[in-house]
Amino acid sequence: MIQGKYFSLLGRSLVDLVLPPRCLVSGEIVGHAGTLSPAAWQGLRFIAAPYCQTCSYPFEFETENTHQCAACLADPPPFAAARAALVYDKASRDIILKFKHGDQLQAVPTLVPMLLRAGADSAGVADLIVPVPLHRWRLLRRRYNQAALLAWGLARESGKSCLPDALLRLRATPPQGHKRARDRAANVKRAFAINPAHADAVCGRTVLLVDDVYTTGATLRECAACLLKGGAAAVHVLTIARVVKAERL
Ligand SMILES: [Zn+2]
Repeated sequence: MIQGKYFSLLGRSLVDLVLPPRCLVSGEIVGHAGTLSPAAWQGLRFIAAPYCQTCSYPFEFETENTHQCAACLADPPPFAAARAALVYDKASRDIILKFKHGDQLQAVPTLVPMLLRAGADSAGVADLIVPVPLHRWRLLRRRYNQAALLAWGLARESGKSCLPDALLRLRATPPQGHKRARDRAANVKRAFAINPAHADAVCGRTVLLVDDVYTTGATLRECAACLLKGGAAAVHVLTIARVVKAERL
């Protein structure tokens, strides 16, 4: 089954060689695989300063009190900083869902430069890049872990080490879906562990934790806490997109 997966992905990449590359969003023919058409690019909302220095929640305007958002002040996250390239909206969700469920692996060369721009400081201080893991059953069904593909891409571009299985997902947590923040936190509580085979590699290191979307931060908080408990010096988070709820503004 695993072999079938790789042959299927290989088959797709061979098909990509003979067919003209198309924009992930609009389907228009583009110059290079993994690029977006100008219209699709313009439809994306990039997260730009001013934003919370801890979780990147964007602020409408700069004031003296905009170093941290109210949520981070009330309940400081275990990670040092979380950065995201895009606001999670219809346009970014479309790209992420195609990447996650549609075998659109050519998204990686588009997304990695976006991630590196958004998380330049975090990538710069990191020793090790680690993806949020999928449970093995979900990995079999989905065939690849999109966060691990991003982590590999980031490692290749930044020259940092990547440990795709540094974290293990101990139980198959139900999809977070439309769960509320408190339920999301309970859903992922104690769902992760450091892979004993990599305990030494994590200890004392600054880790860049990678995932596709920062929603409430529950999964990322849990993974970061797990890495810190395992002796990581610090954890930085990097995601493609971040949910920005109007009611929190
Ligand atoms: Zn914040």
